[in-house]
Amino acid sequence: MKAVVIDEHGPPESLKVQERPKPVSAPGEALVRVRACALNHLDTWVRRGVPGHSFPLPLIPGSDVAGVLDTAAPGFSPGDEVVVAPFVTCGRCDACLSGDDVRCRKYGILGESRDGGCAEYISVPYASLFPKPPELTFVEAASVLLAPLTAYHMVATRAGVKTGDKVLITAAAGGVGSAAIQIALDLGAKVTGVVGSPEKATSVKEIGAGEVVVVERGQGLFDAVKAAIGKASFDVVIDSVGGEFLETGVRLLRPFGRLVTCGATAEPVASIDLRRLFFLSLSVLGSTMGSRWEMSRVLNLVAQGRFKPTVHAVLPLERLGEAHRILEERRVIGKVVVEI
Ligand SMILES: [Zn+2]
Repeated sequence: MKAVVIDEHGPPESLKVQERPKPVSAPGEALVRVRACALNHLDTWVRRGVPGHSFPLPLIPGSDVAGVLDTAAPGFSPGDEVVVAPFVTCGRCDACLSGDDVRCRKYGILGESRDGGCAEYISVPYASLFPKPPELTFVEAASVLLAPLTAYHMVATRAGVKTGDKVLITAAAGGVGSAAIQIALDLGAKVTGVVGSPEKATSVKEIGAGEVVVVERGQGLFDAVKAAIGKASFDVVIDSVGGEFLETGVRLLRPFGRLVTCGATAEPVASIDLRRLFFLSLSVLGSTMGSRWEMSRVLNLVAQGRFKPTVHAVLPLERLGEAHRILEERRVIGKVVVEI
């Protein structure tokens, strides 16, 4: 089969299609013929390498798979259109059995801890299979997996957003950000999106954010918020940027406010005034991915038309390196997807 394999970490140009043996499914797994695989910033980290972390190379990247079932699986027939949960868990520990599989000690991510979807075929556990929402194309279906799952876990579960909450979302035009906007609105929140350009502001307004803050290059988030909406404070901040954005996020929280972080695309280190943290009873919460139940919630929102994917660009697998470049240039609105 055709597959892009990361043999060693390198630049986008190092991503080349190779010929690889078709995977052989382990017991309890099914083979999926991949039709589309959506990219995430995680893909660029896996390609570049992360200091102090070792990925199991050689590795096929790609976490978000939509395709056609090639073999039988319980509840499915060969030929069924499916999407694949972007993670795998052991399925046997207390966390898995109680439905809290996000806490599974063996939680792994497709394309990060085991082979992903930038290939013609992928073998995945039966439990990872979900019916593809029939109204979506394969490209759209691949776009409603890892990022919306991450956003759902952050907004609904970790932050516990409820009706009337004021929510600030950074990188609001990105995969997680645009999903977080829709999920927060669905929960009855008032949403302010933070973006880096007027084009992104337009798209974030279209998704439904009530207020948008454009941070000009070289401008701090705090000053940008003050300039755009004056004296502001929020019940919840959803951040994936890190650094100064996280620091400012904490400064903008009301008493008992919650900041949830799922990424550090700009800067992994931030300093927080602890006096603010304890005097105002604030919470700073980490969040990674989500559970199978939350995946199902996201797909239900999609089926009901309450959550819509935003696709920025579609490229063939042969141009995966170019797709990584597009993602890294940060002018992206929505998902970058490769078709196989
Ligand atoms: Zn487990």
